[in-house]
Amino acid sequence: MRIDIITCLPRLLESPFSDSILKRAQDKGLVTVKVHNLREYSTNKHRTTDDYAFGGGAGMVMMIEPIDRCITSLKSERTYDEVLYMSPDGETLSQSLANQLSLKQNLILLCGHYKGVDERVREHLITREISIGDYVLSGGELAAAVVADSIIRLLPGVLNDETSALSDSFQDGLIAPPVYTRPADYNGWKVPEVLLSGHQSKIEDWKQEEAIKRTKSRRPGLIS
Ligand code: SAH
Repeated sequence: MRIDIITCLPRLLESPFSDSILKRAQDKGLVTVKVHNLREYSTNKHRTTDDYAFGGGAGMVMMIEPIDRCITSLKSERTYDEVLYMSPDGETLSQSLANQLSLKQNLILLCGHYKGVDERVREHLITREISIGDYVLSGGELAAAVVADSIIRLLPGVLNDETSALSDSFQDGLIAPPVYTRPADYNGWKVPEVLLSGHQSKIEDWKQEEAIKRTKSRRPGLIS
């Protein structure tokens, strides 16, 4: 899989992809993540990517031309399944959307800034819009990192234990059960006995019961 992220602030995307699982996924060749600096696609002499809004009002608007030039240049290299714009009024990111996107080959993620992008970008250049929740961030970079992370960890081979992503919350419509590690007794706070029993089927039953209990109390909407 390949993910191209378009931004006017590429430095904001350096650290999320240079550590831990997301770095290893790239090192193993399971995903290629490329960050593109929109300024390099600007044709004006100050390399600006934004301008005042027509009709006035506070806040700058990202111009269509550098975005179009960048997307066109990427599309001349390969075919993209989706061109996704990070937007607070887009479709809310969910595990099922991440699952769907993890099956794609090539994705472009466009990060907005300031007041957002010229509406014509959304009308003509974007195939889908994604929000990471009902709140407004100052830019799409953190949202793009969240979207990319949720997708990349689902790619086969990215997580060490193949079944690990499948046992996470939401995958089976349930919240994940609680987890514990050593010591088994910390100042009198004990790990549930069954987890130390070595009895695998009892352990699995316990996990399932806990997952159901937890889903009922925390996210009853998931159980119909
Ligand atoms: N004026 C816009 C908000 C712009 S915020 C409005 O009121 O809807 C600047 C940029 O941050 C957006 O273009 C978008 O790319 C990003 N952004 C902000 N909140 C986001 C969210 N919840 N999910 C995804 N992207 C978001």
